Order: sequence, then C-alpha cells, then structure tokens
Amino acid sequence: MSPTETKMKKLIAGNWKMNGSLAANEALVKAMLEGLQGAEPAADMALCAPAPYLAQLQSLLQGSPITWGAQDVSAHEQGAYTGEVSVAMLKEFGCRYAIVGHSERRQYHGESDEVVAAKAQRALAAGVTPIVCVGETLAQREAGETEAVVKRQLAAAIHTVGHCITEIVVAYEPVWAIGTGKTATPEMAQAVHAVLRAQLAAATTNPKRVHILYGGSMNAANAASLLAQPDIDGGLIGGASLKATDFLQIVASAR
Ligand code: PEP
Repeated sequence: MSPTETKMKKLIAGNWKMNGSLAANEALVKAMLEGLQGAEPAADMALCAPAPYLAQLQSLLQGSPITWGAQDVSAHEQGAYTGEVSVAMLKEFGCRYAIVGHSERRQYHGESDEVVAAKAQRALAAGVTPIVCVGETLAQREAGETEAVVKRQLAAAIHTVGHCITEIVVAYEPVWAIGTGKTATPEMAQAVHAVLRAQLAAATTNPKRVHILYGGSMNAANAASLLAQPDIDGGLIGGASLKATDFLQIVASAR
C-alpha cells in the first residue's frame, strides 16, 4: 500500500433471504445494535432484507452504524412490471445496497449475466450500490471452469457499467458453498478473488477501490481466516446474519 492510500474498511453484509417477521427482525436488529454499543465497529455493515421489511429496517437502523439494502432490484425504471421493485422506490427509503445476481435468482428466476448487469446499472444510476454476485456451481468447479465462469459473469457487469465499475461491490459466492455448510478454504477463495481483482485492474486504474466480498457458509468460526486473505474485502453472510452474536463476531473478525 502506498503512503497516500488509506486502508479500506471491510464490508460485512447480511443477506436474510426469505426469512424474518416484524417481531423477529426487531429482536434481531435490537440485539445487533446492543452488541455494538460503545465500540467502533471493525467493519462497515449492511443488512439486506426482504422488500416488505425495508421500511422497518429504515426505521430500526436510523442513526446507527448499520446500513441496509435490498436483495434484488428491477432492471426496469418503472411501469408494467408486476411484482417488481424499482430502484427509485428503494432509494426513496434510503436504501444503500442492492444485491444483484444472487445465485438463487440466477437459478430459480433464470437471470442471465445481461439481466444482472442491467440491474447493476439501474442501481448505480440511482445511487444505490449493487452487490454483484458471481460464482460457479460444483459441476463447473469440477470441470475446471471456475475462472471462466466468474470472469464471464463479471465481464457482463464491466461491459455494461463501464467507468462506474469502481462503484460496485462484487461478491464471490461459490454456489456449492451457499447454505451448505461447505466453505471454500481461504486459499481457494483468495485464488478466485485474485482473478477477479486482476479483471478489475484491466478495467480501472483503481481496482482496490472495489470491495470483493466472499460469501458461502461464512460463520463466526471461519470468518477470520477468510477475511485475512489479501483480496477478501468482506463477506456476504446468509444464515449467520440471522443470529446477532454470529454476525457481530464476523464483523469483529474483519480487522
Ligand atoms: C448467501 O445467501 O449469500 C450466503 C452466502 O448464504 P450462507 O452464508 O448461508 O451460505
């Protein structure tokens, strides 16, 4: 790091997926905020909730060090897109992040690289930071295709958002590690993060400005070794973000 570069804080983002209730969310957020009291958090934090609970998060997190985000956003600006949520709507509530291209959306909703890139572009245009997820399936890893897959997925975002690429967050989430309890080893994750960093370096003079998060069964026990890797700038946390103590332990590991 050159003397003029300041160390970027890591980002720990929770993805609640389709979990929660008004009562459970309130208890979870209150426990997180209580756990944080008095301490300077070791990392930036965000919670990504299902759309109906975003207004609740806005109210619960107001004035706290935790920001919030959506788990998806429409690729369209507005209009006849039943069921979709536009970025302008999210922005109106103070949304900071939108996850795009989570593997569950790619898998169950058929989202292509191009759709994911369009969503990222739409978010950026409204000042919402897209967390662009990339990652290979087990079959792709076993076929030696990991690098090609993640590069293809990130290339679509780079192609579409152009010089705004430093404004995105990338999340490397091997599909076989999501919700399975199987984590990539720190070395496996770092190898892919280095590939992604090199790809960003070809697109921008400031590739280190882009947070590259690791996601896939990150928990309180394995977070420190993953987050110690030079190109792992934080985590996208599913299951462990539903438990305040686990989430806060991951945050504390991000020194
Ligand atoms: C995720 O949903 O993005 C995720 C990483 O889930 P988990 O931490 O539960 O594997």
